[in-house]
Amino acid sequence: MQNPFENALVQLEKAANIMSLDKNIYEILKYPDRVLTVSVPVKMDNGEIRVFVGFRSQYNNALGPYKGGIRYHENVSLDEVKALSFWMMIKCATVNIPMGGGKGGIIVDSKKLSLGELKRLSRGYIQKIWREIGSDKDVPAPDMYTTSQIMGWMRDEYEKLLGHADPGVITGKAIADGGSEGREIATAQGGVYVVRELAKRLKLQPNEVKVAIQGMGNVGGFMAKLLSDDGYKIVAISDSKGGIYNENGLDVKAVFEHKKQTGFLSDFSNAQNIYNEHLLELDTDILVPSAMENQITIQNANNIKAKMILEMANGPTTPEADEILAQRNIIVVPDVLANAGGVTVSCFEWEQNNKNERWSEEQVFIKLESIMVQAFNEVWETKEKFNITMRAAAFVKAIERVAAKIKI
Ligand code: NAD
Repeated sequence: MQNPFENALVQLEKAANIMSLDKNIYEILKYPDRVLTVSVPVKMDNGEIRVFVGFRSQYNNALGPYKGGIRYHENVSLDEVKALSFWMMIKCATVNIPMGGGKGGIIVDSKKLSLGELKRLSRGYIQKIWREIGSDKDVPAPDMYTTSQIMGWMRDEYEKLLGHADPGVITGKAIADGGSEGREIATAQGGVYVVRELAKRLKLQPNEVKVAIQGMGNVGGFMAKLLSDDGYKIVAISDSKGGIYNENGLDVKAVFEHKKQTGFLSDFSNAQNIYNEHLLELDTDILVPSAMENQITIQNANNIKAKMILEMANGPTTPEADEILAQRNIIVVPDVLANAGGVTVSCFEWEQNNKNERWSEEQVFIKLESIMVQAFNEVWETKEKFNITMRAAAFVKAIERVAAKIKI
């Protein structure tokens, strides 16, 4: 597996060449502003102390406070956190929200901790990084295996240490705790606004467009519901245990009901059971990876039959596969644009907290739509201008914005 930070630097170099980026700015953007490595001692339930290693990478704050989630996973590494903080910088700048790029993580298998241990770990991590975060400095959020409950503990610990309230220090909080309306569905809703713009550009009629969705969690599940409400034909859906396929379209509501009753997607009436790998290679119009990273690789990129790929997951396409897809003229709407609805509504949460306001779900979605539509069209126009992929275009657009704010 390649070093993710090296991959990020290759993407930076590519964009820098396309846009003839000033070489001094390029040099600055090759490094995160600040990286913290902390050790967090936690008293386990059996009375022993275990020390967990955590990180926070603050990549760049030219556009606003560093922003990015905190991941709890055994495979977290400094290079992964640095790469993710770089991609957060690109994502926030692609949709032009006033936030920079940051990311954090702790090396831990959180499923093996009791609730009490998890709470002590989360509070302990904040005790180590609290001087470097704040609503005007660095605003963490949930990521893999971190939840709104964990964000609530972290905010509480931060405010205790700070000595006063600062609800905007962290986003992804429960609504009762200052979270935003619409956050749960925001990533998928943002993806749907992007699909609508893509359909306009390519003159597609929803009822003629076949969609396959990998993953049925927060993102994939809502994508299936929302796209089917828009009239798209959802022909395949999968989860970690396998998938189902009907070339004429699935009844999405009935699929959810079936999964609720049986716990599985398989054996749904009127559909064929398929393997996860098969879903990626189906003859569809839009493939929507919404599960995990590294799903489209050098092994299967030549077998992809979809005409478009909407990357709702983070990093579902490896850099080698990306090149193959580009050569095959498959349109890839990159993750930094397609799934940016999530961080955009996190930014709205921060804004509401800072102004002591509460926006309705309707207000949230009106603002989200305007941001996603504008970002899509700017990326599309940049792609046309330089004759490059949408991913390269998003990077160029984002780096242009960040570079304009860096004073040297
Ligand atoms: P989730 O945990 O709610 O759902 C993940 C889904 O993927 C589950 O249905 C699981 O069964 C399925 N899955 C796992 N392995 C699979 C496989 N091999 N094949 C098919 N399905 C598989 O996670 P989520 O919040 O929906 O996030 C999904 C992706 O979207 C991640 O890459 C995440 O980083 C990205 N993302 C999420 C958000 C958000 O707001 N939740 C925002 C931006 C990006």
